[in-house]
Amino acid sequence: MSRTPPVLRILGVPVHDVTCEETLGRIAAWIARGGSHQIATVNPEFVMAARRAPAFRAVLERADLCLPDGVGITLAARYLGRPLRERVAGVDLVEGLAARAAREGWRLFLLGAAPGVAERTAEALTSRHPGLVVCGTHAGSPAPEEEEGIVRRVRAARPDVLLVAYGAPAQDLWLARNLARTGAAVGIGVGGAFDYLAGVVRRAPLWVRRLGLEWLFRLVRQPWRWRRQLALPQFALLLLLRRR
Ligand code: UDP
Repeated sequence: MSRTPPVLRILGVPVHDVTCEETLGRIAAWIARGGSHQIATVNPEFVMAARRAPAFRAVLERADLCLPDGVGITLAARYLGRPLRERVAGVDLVEGLAARAAREGWRLFLLGAAPGVAERTAEALTSRHPGLVVCGTHAGSPAPEEEEGIVRRVRAARPDVLLVAYGAPAQDLWLARNLARTGAAVGIGVGGAFDYLAGVVRRAPLWVRRLGLEWLFRLVRQPWRWRRQLALPQFALLLLLRRR
């Protein structure tokens, strides 16, 4: 379990070939061992943003796990001749984590999303996973002036795992700066996961996800994301050019 999983580079950005189960196993080992370990959920938007922002790229480079989130990543891996075993979406990891945490007694802190959403996420998770301890929730913001207060608040709650939903790259940069100070053994940037888990945003039905069209569903439901999703065709084009 201590060996790092195989890493694939997609346009220079690391992505690990891990399954959701293996990720939970690693989280268990890190909680047992202590220290601070950061997990990122990498999708094509991350890759494009990391290419523009060296600081974000450095954070992904140092992260203990870069999970293959988004069908764009699994397709790219296949195209590069290095197929990944599984797509590990942040929202699925959080659900699996909640189930395991309820059994093992791990304490979760939910940070980020719009006011009230982290609380509703906690309610949804604890009702599905009786015994789960959510030791704190807070919306806050990634603004520098809030950082000290939030670190103190998280630290006082003594979480084992800190989930941060400030969107990328803000959440990942926040964790890189502050995770060690919070005392949590594991920090995960989870993007829009709380919005799904709290029922604020409906997730694409399973058949749509199986077809690899979750991005299209998101675009139709949240059309204001079109500008960010321009990263997708750019990502595909760069991959094509790179392989040539
Ligand atoms: N968010 C936040 N504070 C901010 C910016 C974003 O709490 O300053 C939250 C937002 O409410 C959402 C999450 O961060 O719950 C990011 O969602 P998005 O869909 O952008 O993330 P993705 O999954 O695409 O990375």
